[in-house]
Amino acid sequence: MKYVSTRDNSKDYSFEDVFIKGLADDGGLYVPKSLKKYNSEELSKLKNLSYNELSTDIINQFSSDFISKDELSSLVKKSYSAFREKEVVKITSIKDLKLLELFHGPTLAFKDVAMQFIGNLYEYYLSKNDKKLNIVVATSGDTGAAAIDAIKGKSNLNIFVLHPNNRISSVQRKLMTTVEEKNVFNIAIDGNFDDCQNIVKSMFSDLEFSKSINMSGVNSINWVRIIAQTVYYFYSYFKLGKEYISFSVPTGNFGDVFAGYLAKKMGLSIDKLIVATNENDILHRAISKGDYISKEVIETFSPSMDIQSASNFERLIYYINNSDSKITAHIMKKIKQNSYQIEKNNLEIIQKDFLSESCNEHETLEIIKKTYQENNMILDPHTAIGVGAANKLSFDNCVVLSTAHPCKFPDATNNAINMHEKLPQELQHVLDKEENFQVIKNNTEEVKKFIKSKT
Ligand SMILES: *Cc1c(COP(=O)(O)O)cnc(C)c1O
Repeated sequence: MKYVSTRDNSKDYSFEDVFIKGLADDGGLYVPKSLKKYNSEELSKLKNLSYNELSTDIINQFSSDFISKDELSSLVKKSYSAFREKEVVKITSIKDLKLLELFHGPTLAFKDVAMQFIGNLYEYYLSKNDKKLNIVVATSGDTGAAAIDAIKGKSNLNIFVLHPNNRISSVQRKLMTTVEEKNVFNIAIDGNFDDCQNIVKSMFSDLEFSKSINMSGVNSINWVRIIAQTVYYFYSYFKLGKEYISFSVPTGNFGDVFAGYLAKKMGLSIDKLIVATNENDILHRAISKGDYISKEVIETFSPSMDIQSASNFERLIYYINNSDSKITAHIMKKIKQNSYQIEKNNLEIIQKDFLSESCNEHETLEIIKKTYQENNMILDPHTAIGVGAANKLSFDNCVVLSTAHPCKFPDATNNAINMHEKLPQELQHVLDKEENFQVIKNNTEEVKKFIKSKT
C-alpha cells in the first residue's frame, strides 16, 4: 500500500516512511493512497476472530509491504500478552450504555493498545535494518507512559518524553518517571501540552536536527497507532451483534475517534461518532458550529483531553475535501493563524458522521457520582465525559470508549465521591519509587541541547 501526505499528495511514501517518520517532510500527515473496504461477506468472516486474529487481519491491510502476515501475527500476540484481559478489551455496561474498557494494558489507558504493538514493530524493524533511533514524543499524560513501557530496555532505541510540568496527575507522572531503564529520558516542560507538542513538531521540521539524531515519533499522529486502534471498533461491533452502533469517544487529539472514522470508511456499520470533549471544547465548537478557533488551554480533571489543537483533525479535513491536498494545505495555514471557520458544505459532510458534546468540570464530577451511586462503578474522568456526551445526545446502541483506569486520576474521583481506586497490585511499586526527570524551559533549542547531550 502506498501513502501520501495530506499537504502534497503528488508524492508516494511507503509504510516504512509512515511508521518511522510519523510526519511528512512538508508538515502534513500520512494517509493511505487508497483504502481497503471490506464487503459484507468479508466482514462476516472477521466476525468470529479473536482480538489478536482480527488485529492481524486489519493491520495487514496496511502493512503487507513491510512485514509478512505471519510475522505480524506473532508481534501482535507478543504485544497483547502483557494485557490483564485475555481478549485485550472488555465490554461492560451502565444502564443502556455499553462501555468498551480499553485500559487493561500495562499503563492503564487505551494508549497501550497501539503502543505495545508499536514497540515490538520498532524492535522488528531495527533488528532487520541494523539501525538506531531516538524517539521523541509529547504527552498530555498517557501517551508517554504507554510509549515508555513499550520501549524501555529495547536495544537500539532511546525515548525522550516531554510532559507539561505539574499538569499531569501524579500517578500519570510516576508511571513514567520511576522507570529505571537507561534508554528512557523524561523531560518536564514549563508549559502546557500544546507547548510540548509544538516543540516536538518544530524539532521534526528542523530536518538537519531530526536527521542528525535519527528522530522518530510515536505521537497520536502516527498512522500505525490509528490502525491499531481501529481494531477495537470492529471487535466491539462484532461482539455486540447489532446492525448499527454509535460510539462516544473522549477526545483530545482526535486520534482515537479518527480510528473509528477509519473503521467506518473500511465498511463497518457505524452510525455516529460522538466527539466528547471537556471544557477545552474546540472540537465541539468545530463540529457543532464550524468554529475551529483555539482558545487558552484550561486545566481540567481530564488532563489527557486538555488540548486546543487536535493534530489528527487534519486527516478529516483532507477526507472531507475529497483528498485535495492543496485545499488541505491552505486550510492548515488558516488553522495556524487561528482563523478557520469550517465552510457550511464541509460542516454538513462532517455532521453525517460526527456529533459532539462537551462536559464541564461540574458535570464530569456529577457523572462520576451518579454512576457510582447507581451502578457501583468508579469511572475515570475521561470516560465520564464520554458517558456524559452520550447521555446528552441519548442514542440507541451506543458504546462509550472507556479510555483510562480510574486509579490514574484520584483527584477527580476523590472530589466526586471521596474515594479513589487502588492501583492494580503489579503497579503499586511506582507510588514510592524514586522519580527521575529533567525540568526544561518552554524552548525548543534548550530541549534540542538536552537531547543532543544524551545521544
Ligand atoms: C489520550 C487520551 C484521550 C484522548 O484521545 P485522543 O486520541 O488524543 O483524542 C482520552 N482519554 C484518555 C484517558 C487518554 O489517555
